[in-house]
Amino acid sequence: PEPPDLEALQYADVAALLPVPGAGSDKYRRGVVGVVAGSGRYPGAAVLAVAGALRGGAGAVRYVGPGAAAVLARFPETLVHAGPPSAAGRVQAWVVGPGLGDGTEAADAVADVLAADVPVLVDADGLRLMDAEAVRSRSAPTVLTPHAGEAAALLGVAREEVEAGRLAAVRELAARYRATVLLKGSTTLVAEARDTPVRVNPTGTSWLATAGSGDVLSGLTGSLLAAGLAPRDAASAGAYLHGLAARRASAGAPVAAQDVADALPAAWRDVR
Ligand code: AMP
Ligand code: MG
Repeated sequence: PEPPDLEALQYADVAALLPVPGAGSDKYRRGVVGVVAGSGRYPGAAVLAVAGALRGGAGAVRYVGPGAAAVLARFPETLVHAGPPSAAGRVQAWVVGPGLGDGTEAADAVADVLAADVPVLVDADGLRLMDAEAVRSRSAPTVLTPHAGEAAALLGVAREEVEAGRLAAVRELAARYRATVLLKGSTTLVAEARDTPVRVNPTGTSWLATAGSGDVLSGLTGSLLAAGLAPRDAASAGAYLHGLAARRASAGAPVAAQDVADALPAAWRDVR
C-alpha cells in the first residue's frame, strides 16, 4: 500500500521523543543550543527565542548578538557573547534569524551560521537573508520555519497561493532547500526533503497569532535539535509543545508570547 501523505503526532509519540537527562548526564551532554537573534531594533526577539530555548531540553543556551544585555537581564543562566551576531562558540545546534534585521552584519551572521557543521534552524529574517545554495549544500541538517508570507517569498508566489496549497508548498520548500520545513499557521505542517509523511500538528490555537510567538517556537525547536532529536522530530515535537503551552497559558483568553514560553514546562509535564 502507498504510505500515508499525512500523520498527526499523539501524546505518546511526543512523550517518547522528549529528551530526559540520564543519571550520569551533564549540561554538555544534554547539548548546547546557540541563538543568533535580535538587533538594536528588535532586542525582544532575542529574549523570546532564548526563553523558548531554555525550556527545550538542551543543557545550556548560548546567545551571540546585540541583544546580550536584554537577554542577561531576563535570563542570567544564558551564556552570552555581546557584539556582532556570529556563530561564535561551540554548540550542538544553532537558531538564527528572529529579529535579526536586514543589514550586512545580519546577512554575514546567517552565512556564518549556515557554514557550521551542526544542525541549524533558520527563522524570520534569516529566511530572507539566507543563500539558497548555502542551505542546499549543507551536510548537517537544516530546519526552516516560515509562516505563509515567508514561505511565499521563498517560493516566489503570492501568499494566497501558499494558503490555498499548504501541503504542496511545504513539500516543495523541503525539496528545493533539501531541508526539513515547518510551515506555521492555523495548522502547522512539517515536511522533509525525503518522501516521508508530512506531520500535522494538532495542538495549535489561534491565540498563538500574537507577536513573538514564532520566536519562542524557534528557540524551543532549536533546543530539541541540540538535545539530539532528528530534525523532523524536533520540529514536530516543538510545534506540539508550543501549541499545548499556548492552550495552557490561554485557557480561552489572550496570551503574550512570554506567557507561552512560561507555560512550556507545564506542557512538557502534560505530555510525559
Ligand atoms: P510567527 O508568525 O513567526 O510569529 O509565528 C506564529 C506562531 O503562531 C506559529 O507557531 C503559528 O503556527 C502560530 N499561529 C499563528 N496563527 C495561528 C492560528 N490561527 N492557529 C493556530 N496557530 C497559529
Ligand atoms: Mg516569525
